Amino acid sequence: MRCLLFACLLLSSLPSFALDRFQVEGYTLPNGLQLMLKPGADRGHVAIRLVVGVGLDDFNCDDKELPHLLEHLLFSGIDATGEGGLEERMQALGGEWNAYTSNADTTFVIEAPAKNQRKVLDLLLALLTQTRIDDNAINAAKQVVEREDGGHYTHLQRWLDRQDLGHTASNQLAVELGLKCPQRAEVDHLTREQLEKVRKLWYAPNNMTLIMVGDLDRLLPAYLERAWGELVAVDPSEHLPLPEIRSSAAHERTLSSGFVGDGAKLHWLVPEPVLEDEHDETFDLLKDYLDWALYRQMRLVHSLSYGPSAERELFGGVGFMSLNADLERDDVPEAKQVLEALKAQLLKDGLDADTFNRLKQAAIARQAWAVQGNSALADYYWSALGDYEDGRFADPARELQGVTLEEANKALRELLLQPGYLRIEKPLVGDDQVMWVIAGVFGLLVLGLLGWRFHRRK
Ligand SMILES: [Zn+2]
Repeated sequence: MRCLLFACLLLSSLPSFALDRFQVEGYTLPNGLQLMLKPGADRGHVAIRLVVGVGLDDFNCDDKELPHLLEHLLFSGIDATGEGGLEERMQALGGEWNAYTSNADTTFVIEAPAKNQRKVLDLLLALLTQTRIDDNAINAAKQVVEREDGGHYTHLQRWLDRQDLGHTASNQLAVELGLKCPQRAEVDHLTREQLEKVRKLWYAPNNMTLIMVGDLDRLLPAYLERAWGELVAVDPSEHLPLPEIRSSAAHERTLSSGFVGDGAKLHWLVPEPVLEDEHDETFDLLKDYLDWALYRQMRLVHSLSYGPSAERELFGGVGFMSLNADLERDDVPEAKQVLEALKAQLLKDGLDADTFNRLKQAAIARQAWAVQGNSALADYYWSALGDYEDGRFADPARELQGVTLEEANKALRELLLQPGYLRIEKPLVGDDQVMWVIAGVFGLLVLGLLGWRFHRRK
């Protein structure tokens, strides 16, 4: 009751509260459902995100598609009107919904008119509690999931995956290091019992966060306590530990991408050393710096690559930084030299202070317009749930400000001192080689023909 009173007070002090986007009053219902209500600046609309703490990472390679399949199944209908009837109800309320299963969570994403917010939440609640899973629905959902994953997993595709031909460079490296499943997860063998079990163990209020941003109804807190407070909590399940690097990988490899072509890609990938403070902000700034350094060297100075880039990627429990360049096939050796020279120069001289500060200020300035409107704000809270504490999300601008040149230099040295992994992607043969082969075959034909005529004349 105390939290209800508090939430009512919160919603009646809207205007001043709406200004600070990092301040969000969250509270927990007695059944463990975490609520985050944020009055937004846009009127007439609410953005709803229901984050369920179960994702692909919670399952072994063979059963990875379980939470994704269940997510689709939950849209198969709450009564005899089925999937179509469910969608018609949402249409009648003027809302739109979708759901996404990621490595870490399953999230229902809804945009709705403010005036129907409680009815939309009722419909979402009905979807969670009343959907009956039968074999027909399971088969239909399996087909959809299979199509989303790129169609039926053929023998050829599986063979290509085993030969590393079906993966991009970073995925291929993650497979080599034991951070990622070598083959695509399939859905055919998943059973109704398995799906029911996932639903029972993970779709519980104490494993969910409901985020609402926008023109919030003043009766919302009372409604949530009454309707959503009915959900029954379960004993929490343990998440599987994230995979760590288990095996070694070749330092350098050439990967085939397609059969014929003159393009190539160069990637240097390296695991990010773990920093005690401001890990993400430091590596975000280093990424910006390396991105710019690559652009200057690969594009402006040497004209080797049109769009070189630095990227950050997460595989299992390991973050990777990568330096990437799209090239002409014949330029690969020169690009490798330029990359090595750039790394050596950075190790020797460290970061240029002016450039670092300029890029840091730009990153801080970007924060002022990075998140606009109710929906973007709701998405932001969803992505930053781990950074929420005592009614506040961490302010990225302040955290970026806290990264010093010395800390960034130290992280850069640790990063570049590692040998890392070089991966070159290129098609099996170049255009020129194909031309020579065609010319050669043609030449042989002509010779053969001449020889035959000569023979006959004799
Ligand atoms: Zn899907």
